[in-house]
Amino acid sequence: MSYKPNLAEDFAFSDLHCHSNCSDGELSPRQLVERAADKGVKILALTDHDTIDGVADATQASHDRSLMLIPGVELTALWGKRVVHIVGLGFDPDNPELQMYLCNLKKIRDQRAELIAARLVKKGCPDLLGKAKALAGEGQIGRPHFAQAMVAARVVDSPAKAFSLYLGAGKPGDIKVEWPDMSDAIACLHQAGGYAVLAHPTKYKLTFTKIREMIAAFAESDGDAVEARYPGIDPGQTRQIEIAAQRHDLLLSAGSDFHCTGFSWSELGKYPKMPNSEMHILHRIL
Ligand code: AMP
Ligand code: MN
Ligand code: MN
Ligand code: MN
Repeated sequence: MSYKPNLAEDFAFSDLHCHSNCSDGELSPRQLVERAADKGVKILALTDHDTIDGVADATQASHDRSLMLIPGVELTALWGKRVVHIVGLGFDPDNPELQMYLCNLKKIRDQRAELIAARLVKKGCPDLLGKAKALAGEGQIGRPHFAQAMVAARVVDSPAKAFSLYLGAGKPGDIKVEWPDMSDAIACLHQAGGYAVLAHPTKYKLTFTKIREMIAAFAESDGDAVEARYPGIDPGQTRQIEIAAQRHDLLLSAGSDFHCTGFSWSELGKYPKMPNSEMHILHRIL
């Protein structure tokens, strides 16, 4: 049986952004749902990078617990030359156009992985493609799998070092590729019956002037909402994002962006909570 949430009571126990091992998360979709339920989450969106492969298992798992699973995804896209993340929520996972769109993203990620591996070899690393692919398994391969492979090969002693030295913005493994434009991501989510949310606006290393420009462009491209509460954001930043969202008639969203266990600052259902308001996208989805 699927759980029917009561928004008045369950709003405070929602989490609309997290990852499973179908992308760069640690837990299987089922384990993720069980952990979320154990932490008191009542409404969860699984939002893996560029794949919805975990949605069916997560939905199935949610039927065994008092938790509602919302189909989600975190699409990699371009705003001009900048990479941005668009969280999609509440779409039909069987939508053929969405499935084709995600197939294309898988091709892009697989090709990028080969380029990353080759670039790292040029920088003196061993060839890590096989190891990174093995770590990704059936899931979408990403830079975190290379970071893990670099730790396993003792090139660096932590994933954070792998990003700061090799994989992060402007580093050799940060390969530029032709991700779809932000407007295409939004249009694809809409035709599949879903909503588009601009993910974690303060995490793109932009000034607030640029963040406001990005939010305006997102609204111009018909986006629906902006994340205003997530781990690492401070109340002043949340306020500024809320003001920008209101200016462009955008709704708000929030979530933990949970990837893995073992970090006290990152947990399912754990992020600065917002008051239950009509501005929250959950009121549209449910
Ligand atoms: P990708 O989607 O392959 O471009 O990889 C981006 C992912 O890498 C993000 O979703 C994060 O999970 C992770 N990531 C980005 N920057 C860092 C960092 N500095 N340290 C650790 N993980 C990071
Ligand atoms: Mn990630
Ligand atoms: Mn992201
Ligand atoms: Mn994420």
